[in-house]
Amino acid sequence: MGNKVERSLFNDVMVPCYSPLEMIPVKGQGSRVWDQDDNEYIDFAGGIAVSCLGHCHPAMVNAITEQASKIWHLSNVMTNEPALRLAKKLTELSFADKVFFANSGAEANEAALKLARRVAADKYGTDKSEIIAFKQGFHGRTFFTVTVGGQAAYSDGFGPKPGDVTHLDYNDIEAFKAHISDKTCAVMMEPLQGEGGIVSPTPEFAKAVRELCDQHNALLIFDEVQTGNGRTGTFYAYEGLGVTPDILSTAKSLGGGIPIGAMLTTDEFAPHLKVGTHGSTYGGNPLACAVAEAVVDIVSQPETLAGVAEREALFRDGLTKINDKYGIFSEIRGKGLLIGAALNEEWQGRAREVLVAAEKQGLMVLVAGANVVRFTPSLVIPKQDIEEGLARLDKAIASIV
Ligand code: PLP
Repeated sequence: MGNKVERSLFNDVMVPCYSPLEMIPVKGQGSRVWDQDDNEYIDFAGGIAVSCLGHCHPAMVNAITEQASKIWHLSNVMTNEPALRLAKKLTELSFADKVFFANSGAEANEAALKLARRVAADKYGTDKSEIIAFKQGFHGRTFFTVTVGGQAAYSDGFGPKPGDVTHLDYNDIEAFKAHISDKTCAVMMEPLQGEGGIVSPTPEFAKAVRELCDQHNALLIFDEVQTGNGRTGTFYAYEGLGVTPDILSTAKSLGGGIPIGAMLTTDEFAPHLKVGTHGSTYGGNPLACAVAEAVVDIVSQPETLAGVAEREALFRDGLTKINDKYGIFSEIRGKGLLIGAALNEEWQGRAREVLVAAEKQGLMVLVAGANVVRFTPSLVIPKQDIEEGLARLDKAIASIV
């Protein structure tokens, strides 16, 4: 094993903006993962809400293998078949008529924000530039998206920020009503806050935001990077909320593990990004689009979506039983397979401790902030893996109470 890549190499050669666990996974199949020492893990993390069909799903392996022997990359000087097929499917599955492809969630959001600013400038003039977003929201790490995200800790320290961005309290209808004006060009929100702690909007709040956007000619942007592609049990979370945005961003589960993002909008707004106003070298890359098409074909099937609700019930039931035993959660929240177990008063700040204890028991989980343990497994995780994973979580919590 002289050539074994050690975790310590990370510290030697990687920019230290991450603090990865000690073990290095080398193989995945379905919802199981193996590390360099052949230790096996059950995956309740899904690569942070990405691996929606688990690891190495045969349909994805086929799609990537087939496309890999045809053509990998062209750039947007030409279009390509997988991108066009995927865009057509995404429009058929949503309110949208037009698609812009990017490579990540942040880039899809960047496109969304730039489109909204363009629409407002073209139609009403440059004074209409305010973007309203929400505290604890997360929209990515480019400078524009991190500034729109509602955690100053992520955007401070990099010099002057893109301007005219306001952050309000999520779910506070009165504050929103009092603030929005004709100078607001767009409102960006997650239809269920993920990174910010798994917080659902109230239906009244979502409806009020939509109505007030209409009153003030502001575009409503739903960031569905984490909630999209079946994660909450409908193909997009907006369907479950009964509120339709003007622009939607999607990424993460769209590629199921291959980097891709997309910004979706309507025939009314898309023409404002005319030739030369925006672009991406890799956006719409045939390899990524071919894989995403295979993912979308499976996730959009009614059986897959119905399976998400069934699996959610198993998680809620299992987590409630664990809580009955150890009394560490104040609430099990979220929707579909975007679930948060919020730690109670006594356990504040200990979410990462749970994550590390779980890893020692062969279970991969996530956190959403310091006080919420987050579960975003594959949407097709075998029910037996859910049961076994929850048993491992039980042991992990027993080891730290
Ligand atoms: N938007 C939301 C809601 C997210 O959860 C994330 C990532 O966690 C992003 C945007 C950023 O996506 P990416 O990391 O692919 O740029």
